[in-house]
Amino acid sequence: MILPTKQRINIFSADRLSLENLVDDLGASNYRAQQILRWLYQRKVLDISEMTDLSKDFREQLSAISEIRLPEIVSKKISVDGTIKWLMRVSNGNCIETVMIPDGRRKTLCISSQIGCMLDCSFCSTGKQGFNGNLEVSDIIGQVFLAQEELAKTGQSITNVVLMGMGEPLLNFDAVIKATNLMMDDLGFGISKRRITVSTAGYVPGIYELAKVTDVSLAVSLHAPNDELRNVLVPLNKKFPIADLLDACQHYLQTLGGKRSVTIEYIMIKDVNDQLDCARQLTRLLRGMRCKINLIPFNPFPGSTYDRPSENTIRKFQDVLVGAGYATLKRTTRGEDISAACGQLVGAVDDRTKRKARYLNRIGESQVDNIAFRQVEN
Ligand code: SAH
Repeated sequence: MILPTKQRINIFSADRLSLENLVDDLGASNYRAQQILRWLYQRKVLDISEMTDLSKDFREQLSAISEIRLPEIVSKKISVDGTIKWLMRVSNGNCIETVMIPDGRRKTLCISSQIGCMLDCSFCSTGKQGFNGNLEVSDIIGQVFLAQEELAKTGQSITNVVLMGMGEPLLNFDAVIKATNLMMDDLGFGISKRRITVSTAGYVPGIYELAKVTDVSLAVSLHAPNDELRNVLVPLNKKFPIADLLDACQHYLQTLGGKRSVTIEYIMIKDVNDQLDCARQLTRLLRGMRCKINLIPFNPFPGSTYDRPSENTIRKFQDVLVGAGYATLKRTTRGEDISAACGQLVGAVDDRTKRKARYLNRIGESQVDNIAFRQVEN
């Protein structure tokens, strides 16, 4: 039986295990799954009929129930600093953003996990765009596939992947796990677990689940050294306060064998969380945690009310942390001229939460073109 397009299984949404189950259902051996992965990820052959080491019968069977579909690149912008931002149309017709940040040989791909975001952190423009839904596995791994294809044209490769684009990865758990499995799989992208980072705003149950199924690197968007301030910056904190979040991080690190460390992301916002007292509180809070701290200068976006602290303020804050023994880096702002920096990713999200309408109301209709649909038209 040939399935209508809507009911077909997208092969790009299957990691090795799900592909093995799929071919098993068709009465074929596990090995077929490995052959298919090789065709897709190594030879970049996206047509089942061309997978010539599969029997003709099996190819026909598979073609009848499946499809091979990736996101579509709508536009691409290149920053003066070499950062590239793609706007990609995903399965459900919305658009998300993906960013590649070059740094010598290191090419870090920052990918999105959801269409918009539910969490509404006060400093992040993605949240202001509202939320439309989860990305499918094919949309997540597709960002890596397409970016890698583009880089390959100039003999380069993606070396690191961070799930720090649009969305909260741990709220799209199953898809994120399958996609990261494919990134790590030797028959997929073969990227080391240490070079794949899942970043969370602090969805605590997700961290415990993560510990059961994977060993990728973990980053936590902490941003404040106490609950009072974090409740304002990251509303999710009201449900999962800092102490619970740090316990979950310790659990994750222990499950991984106690040798790895967690990345603590700390956005620096002028007069909000950049005071030296915050730095001192942070040193006490993180005592006993194997961690690296990343200080991220706040990136403004249309309608944002926060400012970025001076370089001097950031350096003094960093000095306190380094003085207390924490490896602390100030993240260089990249891709700002193309709105590709942290917290500036918006895509074109058909908001289902009415949050975008409220936001636009507040900042004035004139900003509409500036934010959500600017990139689509380019
Ligand atoms: N929801 C996940 C993944 C998104 S990561 C998380 O919160 O970790 C996005 C990263 O960019 C986070 O560290 C986030 O806090 C940071 N960020 C968001 N808005 C920003 C802004 N305006 N300026 C600088 N960094 C920002």
